[in-house]
Amino acid sequence: MRGKGESMHRFFIAPDAVSGGEARIEGEDVQHIAKVLRLNPGDKVSLCDGHKMEYTACIEHIERERVVLQILSQGDSKAEPNCMVTLYQGLPKAGKLETIIQKCVELGVSRIVPFAASRSVVRLTAQEFERKRPRYARVAYEAAKQSRRGIVPEVCGLTALSAEDFSQYDATLLAYEEEHGKTLKAALSDARPVERLALIVGPEGGFAPEEVALLQASGAVSVSLGPRILRTETAGMAAVAMALYELEF
Ligand code: SAH
Repeated sequence: MRGKGESMHRFFIAPDAVSGGEARIEGEDVQHIAKVLRLNPGDKVSLCDGHKMEYTACIEHIERERVVLQILSQGDSKAEPNCMVTLYQGLPKAGKLETIIQKCVELGVSRIVPFAASRSVVRLTAQEFERKRPRYARVAYEAAKQSRRGIVPEVCGLTALSAEDFSQYDATLLAYEEEHGKTLKAALSDARPVERLALIVGPEGGFAPEEVALLQASGAVSVSLGPRILRTETAGMAAVAMALYELEF
């Protein structure tokens, strides 16, 4: 039993796992509920369908392969920002992407798109990256659960900037260490209203001039994140936090 004031345990379920006032939890969460958390019929939990719908539910019974719950109440997730932020992250050195994913999910990013940058130290093919993707998806899932997100942000496959279509965004901002004029704040206020935002961050070595030119030609505005040079893993977090501070109501 969790004490007063403690939050309920939280689980993501598939949207079709809810019907007729009942919900089902399946997969590895079942063992976790029964053996680790030792929850019992009558205990309340919080459920989220990954599409911003949240439920408070009461455990009815626990079977070997599923937990059946009764829905007590439902409502839209309050954790989702009104602006969808996609972070394009230049492929960093091993290990850093996990930190970036974890922290940016906590901060409210909606999607992370890693790209092979010309100055990326690590060279990976899209297929090699694919093998690491389940682990990245897991990091996003755990972070979403922890920070009580209403969605599990997607970590996309490794791409190239030239393959991306930025026209889907209301604003595409390139965090550029050589930009000393325009701030992220100013660029966002020029672009308002911003419901879909792309933030592009370079790898450890920064952007090559050709990449900056290519992005600017496809409509990206280069912005400064301030007078100090941030490490690549700090830049994404800082940019997401700054953007949502400006845009979230
Ligand atoms: N190698 C470069 C720094 C790269 S920092 C140098 O030593 O000068 C890695 C990435 O973080 C950059 O490509 C940029 O996208 C982002 N970044 C870091 N500090 C920034 C700042 N002050 N303003 C804008 N972007 C920044």
